[in-house]
Amino acid sequence: MHIRKQRLLTPGPTPLYPPALHAMMASDIHHRTEEFRSIYKSALADLKEVYGTSNDVLCFAASGTGAMDASVSNLFSRGDKVIVCAAGKFGERWVSIAKAYGLNATVLDAAYGDVVTPERLEAALQAEPGVKGVFVQASDTSTGAEHDIRAMAALVKPTDAIFVVDGITGMGTMELDVDGWGIDVLVGGSQKAFMIPPGLAFVSVSPKAWAHAAKADLPHFYFDFKKEKKSGDAGESTWTPATSLILALAESLKYVKRVGMANVIANAQLLASATRDACKELDLDLFATRPGSSVTAVKAPAGMDSGLIVKGLKQFGSVITNGQGSMKGQIFRLAHIGYFDIIDMFGMVAALEIVLRANGHQVELGKGVAAVQRAYEAARKA
Ligand SMILES: *Cc1c(COP(=O)(O)O)cnc(C)c1O
Repeated sequence: MHIRKQRLLTPGPTPLYPPALHAMMASDIHHRTEEFRSIYKSALADLKEVYGTSNDVLCFAASGTGAMDASVSNLFSRGDKVIVCAAGKFGERWVSIAKAYGLNATVLDAAYGDVVTPERLEAALQAEPGVKGVFVQASDTSTGAEHDIRAMAALVKPTDAIFVVDGITGMGTMELDVDGWGIDVLVGGSQKAFMIPPGLAFVSVSPKAWAHAAKADLPHFYFDFKKEKKSGDAGESTWTPATSLILALAESLKYVKRVGMANVIANAQLLASATRDACKELDLDLFATRPGSSVTAVKAPAGMDSGLIVKGLKQFGSVITNGQGSMKGQIFRLAHIGYFDIIDMFGMVAALEIVLRANGHQVELGKGVAAVQRAYEAARKA
């Protein structure tokens, strides 16, 4: 095959929404002008609408981790007792950030593929009075598992702790009712459900979280919630913004609003459920016990290194992801978050069948694809 289109089939960076990419060509704009202020103001308003919250939503020039870091440095004090629910590589990142800032963290960890149950969080909250914060991933992209955020939020809400959720791949793939459930801080990143390149990080801040900010003593400078809120209200960002990405964001948010966030979520959920059906047909086991819809982590067939599957897809020009850390070689991950459609899934599963056969996992051609087609037909009828 001589023409192979390059495709990013990964859960971040995700495929780019073309009009957002085109909008970046207007980047020769000065950020301290009325022209840019009006774009930034409306982008922040749309961001809030897409977050579905009446809380403040701040925007930073950083990858998602920047907003995770800022959520610790702006809202806590040295030695604060916190609980970290860690169920994968991203959960471990919360642990590292909490440690870096000298928080007193109790870690509830789950084996890779598993989740931290609300029952465990409930027990930990009872055992540890005076907890100031609870950290979790809505979806841990490294394992494809999804936490029960609604149930966890209900446990944290009546306490003095704030509930800090890394929703970087949860947003756009599962319901996250910030105001209704009591998610005090929800972190997002541009290169996931927002369909634009990496480099912007978002964070919503509840009144309860602002009250924590008023008492927090950890050092921070570049990422400053209070400064950024004040700047944002005036249609500015505190420092020079990532102008090109803001232009892209403004465009992609218009698209998400037009489609509707609920439909963006339904889209990812359909693609994920169709992928799970396909795996069943292809005798492949899922890795996560509570699989989410941002990415489906699949165990490689017994005796096969998952790297061979990643390599095989590469021969089609497509990039899928291997496992991270100790999961490397064990699993491969098929993404659904953001700008993915059903035709992407037909192609992904068709290519997967060919690659599996080439590596000795004898499946019948078309069995997985047919499962995706059936899922599509069923969803259309519903
Ligand atoms: C991608 C991702 C992040 C952020 O990683 P960055 O490399 O800083 O963008 C954080 N949490 C989860 C769950 C992610 O998927």
